[in-house]
Amino acid sequence: MTPTVSTSTTVCLENVTKQYWQNGRCTTALADCTLDIRAGEFFSLLGPSGTGKTTLLNLLAGFERPDSGQVRVGSREVRGAGPDRAVVFQAPTLYPWLTAAGNVAEGLRHLRLSHSERKERALHHLAEVGLEHAATRHPHQMSGGMAQRVGIARALAMQPDVLVMDEPFAALDAYVRREMQELAVRLQQERKVTTLFVTHSIEEALVLSDRLATMAAGRVTEIFEVDAAHPRDVTAAEFIALRRTIADRIESGVRAEREQVR
Ligand code: ADP
Ligand code: MG
Repeated sequence: MTPTVSTSTTVCLENVTKQYWQNGRCTTALADCTLDIRAGEFFSLLGPSGTGKTTLLNLLAGFERPDSGQVRVGSREVRGAGPDRAVVFQAPTLYPWLTAAGNVAEGLRHLRLSHSERKERALHHLAEVGLEHAATRHPHQMSGGMAQRVGIARALAMQPDVLVMDEPFAALDAYVRREMQELAVRLQQERKVTTLFVTHSIEEALVLSDRLATMAAGRVTEIFEVDAAHPRDVTAAEFIALRRTIADRIESGVRAEREQVR
C-alpha cells in the first residue's frame, strides 16, 4: 500500500530498503522504511547504534541510493547530493587551511557570487551562530564547539531546503552541548528550516524537536509529537511520562532485535 502524502510534506521516504554486503554477509540497514517530515519542522531520529539512522540520513543527503523505495524532497526524487540539502556531521569536516569565513564561503561555491559577496555572506552567517569575532581563525585555533558552529554556519549559508544533522553535538562536553542546543532552538525559531536530526539522547531530542521518531531494525517504530514551548526544561514533571514511554519504546526495539538474532 502506498501511504498518502500531504502537499505540505517536504521530506518523504516511501518503503525504502537499503542493504549492505560485506564479506559475503548482507545487512539490512533500512527495511521498508516509511517516514514523512513536514515543511519547517525539526524532526529527530532516536535509537541505538545500528538501527539505520545514518543510512536514512545518507539516503536523504543523496550520498547513497536506496535498493528499493523512494526518497523525495518536495515533489523531486533524490538522485544525488545537492545544495538544497545541507549536512552537518558529528565531526565538523572543515578545511584546515581555510579560516572560519573561508570555510563558510566554500559552501557557497555553487552560487554565482563574487568573492566579496561570498565573504559578506559568510560573515553574516558566522554572526548568526555567534562567531563574528572568530572569522579569521583557522580550525586548529578553534574549540570543538566553535568548529561545530562553523559547520552549522556553512550549512545555513547554503540556504538549504533541508538541514540534515548526524549526532552533531555528541562529541561536545555537557556545557557546550547545552549551548549548542540553545543555538539550534534559536536558529529553528528564526529560520524554520526543515531539519532531520539524529541523536542518541532522548533529552536532546525532547529539547529540540517538534516531532521525534524511535527506530529499531531499520524501521520507524513510533512517532511522538512534542507539543511544548521553548525553552524547554525536559527534566520537569510534565516530561517524565513522555521520556519513560520513549525509553520503553527504544528498549523494546532492542529486545526484539536481540530475539531476532538468536
Ligand atoms: P546507526 O546510524 O543507527 O548507528 P547505520 O545506518 O550506521 O546505523 O547502520 C545500520 C546498519 O548497517 C548497521 O548494521 C551497520 O553495520 C550497517 N552498515 C552501515 N553502513 C554500512 C556500510 N557502508 N557497509 C556495510 N554495512 C554498513
Ligand atoms: Mg549513525
